[in-house]
Amino acid sequence: MEFIDLAAQQRRIRADLGARIAAVLDHGHYIMGPEVAELEARLCALAGARHTISCASGTDSLLMVLMAWGIGPGDAVFMPPFTFFATAEVVAMLGATPVFVDILPDTFTMNPAALAKAVQAVRTRDARIHPLPVQARAQELRPRAVIPVDLFGQAPAYADIFAVAREHALLVLEDAAQSFGGSQGGRMHGALGCHAASASFFPAKPLGCYGDGGAILTDDDALADVLRSIRVHGKGGDKYDNVRIGLNGRLDTLQAAVLLAKLEIFEDEIRTRQTVAAWYTQALAGVPGLTPPHIAPGNVSAWAQYCLLVAGGKRDAVAAYLRAQGIPTNIYYPKPLHMLQAFASMGYQPADMPVSLASSRAILALPFHPYLQQTDVAAISARIAEAVGA
Ligand SMILES: *Cc1c(COP(=O)(O)O)cnc(C)c1O
Repeated sequence: MEFIDLAAQQRRIRADLGARIAAVLDHGHYIMGPEVAELEARLCALAGARHTISCASGTDSLLMVLMAWGIGPGDAVFMPPFTFFATAEVVAMLGATPVFVDILPDTFTMNPAALAKAVQAVRTRDARIHPLPVQARAQELRPRAVIPVDLFGQAPAYADIFAVAREHALLVLEDAAQSFGGSQGGRMHGALGCHAASASFFPAKPLGCYGDGGAILTDDDALADVLRSIRVHGKGGDKYDNVRIGLNGRLDTLQAAVLLAKLEIFEDEIRTRQTVAAWYTQALAGVPGLTPPHIAPGNVSAWAQYCLLVAGGKRDAVAAYLRAQGIPTNIYYPKPLHMLQAFASMGYQPADMPVSLASSRAILALPFHPYLQQTDVAAISARIAEAVGA
């Protein structure tokens, strides 16, 4: 059994995939070929965004937006610590300071009330209001931006985050790496009203290519122009007229071709993901000691992962039991970011982010993809019930 079965998806689109890749081999425009523009237009239409700037990875999509905003030393950028490393890595890479804000225990997304406290704590350099990194205690940082993360496919309460952001003039960057294809209040991720949104096309994401890829979605015309420049070494009129520091941040034409083939079935896959998740939640309801994922009202998750909580310190035993039965599982995330060695110089204590810490110890991701059969879900769920009872 596969944790994510990309081969089943490939069988479904193999002919279209082959034709699209062959078209690229025929025209030979491997860099910024016509498929890139076609993909960007398709993503704008799907999400309802004015601009899509494709790029080389989800990490680059976050980095490029922060570069365009001029985020750097002396700036504080707020984010949950229960996310993939890249969300904070790009902030630190630019010399700015990540300030962690704990999550809510049911959705694992950023706690908006804690965000308000964290901004206040940075402004007053008062770690009694909210835990702060040493950098924010040593000097007064400017609160500049917040990166809420749509974890496992589900968005946080954006209305509440926007209220805090407006009050403190924070820029909002939606990390939609795991959530592209989902929605909140009928609006697609990537077009929820944030200043910009970042998507990843890493193969295991709900919309994945066959390598690395990413995109930025925004309604801001000026930001889109700067991002297109940053994507090609800070180009001005042409690529040898460099007007700012940028990156080689382009998406390969071949990856755009793969994504165009996958887009044909993407909305259908998102619908199927809802069905598979419902099978699991139904099959696992009533198993003592398990908390299936909670999707907040108004949210449609892209279901990048199906993660449940296993109570009583049994998570690792359950995972081991499943592995012995040939059922792969994963842990997202074994260490919240504030506990990683790379951020040791920030001086956080594990208990500074208690909900992230507790979640990291109890969370378990089950095999999940749109090609899972109801019989598979029933079999996996039965093994989990055995493991919990054991
Ligand atoms: C995957 C991921 C990223 C990084 O995307 P890459 O395409 O792997 O660079 C960033 N943030 C989150 C939350 C992710 O899950």
